Amino acid sequence: MSTEPNTTGAGTEAPQSHAFQAEVARLLHLMVHSVYSNKDIFLRELISNAADACERLRHAALTDPSLLGEDTEFGILLEADEAGRRLVVSDNGSGMSRQELIDNLGTIARSGTKAFMDRLGEGKDGTALIGQFGVGFYSAFMVAEKVDVISRAAGSSEAWQWSSDGLGAFTVEPAGDDADVPARGTRVILHLKDDAASYARPATIERIVRAYSAHVPVPITLVVLPA
Ligand code: ADP
Ligand code: MG
Repeated sequence: MSTEPNTTGAGTEAPQSHAFQAEVARLLHLMVHSVYSNKDIFLRELISNAADACERLRHAALTDPSLLGEDTEFGILLEADEAGRRLVVSDNGSGMSRQELIDNLGTIARSGTKAFMDRLGEGKDGTALIGQFGVGFYSAFMVAEKVDVISRAAGSSEAWQWSSDGLGAFTVEPAGDDADVPARGTRVILHLKDDAASYARPATIERIVRAYSAHVPVPITLVVLPA
């Protein structure tokens, strides 16, 4: 395992492995082994990140409209893939560069993460806390055995893939240009755990979106892949 920066830059084909920052690793351990009853909130967190990314780009485009190109309508896409036991959350927002993937999804702990951990340490009930704090991206590991994040920052010709099983390390590699790679923004692909397969069902997804994401200011579309 290496935490060395990639010195050769884009175009390097071998996936680079990075250790999670200690506090993030602790949170992930809780998520991976979670016994929390309300796992549904992971979807609220991913949708809120997608909406934030759209808002961030909308704001940046006020001073640099070329960032949007032809793609001026922001949207969040959910793909229900029961046959593949996957749930995919995509947005055409800001996207992330290679360095942002490394910093934001593994090496720099968020304030919500720290607050959540502190309260848990005080012996507070995790089930109640998880809804109360924005525990964010890492809550995906309550339901996923592996998460891939494929992202292209607005205006960039490069796309990068982050992947992890949430057990201590993550990899980052160039994403190439197959159909899974967004023209702009981020695709979060959840490879669901056996006991979380129901999160690939359209009815489950619709129910959670209605319950938790009704007021998201970016349109959300559900696509059902053939079973
Ligand atoms: P928070 O949203 O509270 O900052 P999260 O754990 O939910 O914490 O997300 C961590 C960070 O990862 C975000 O602040 C953002 O910088 C980045 N991020 C997560 N999802 C996306 C996304 N879909 N598009 C762009 N950046 C994202
Ligand atoms: Mg968030």
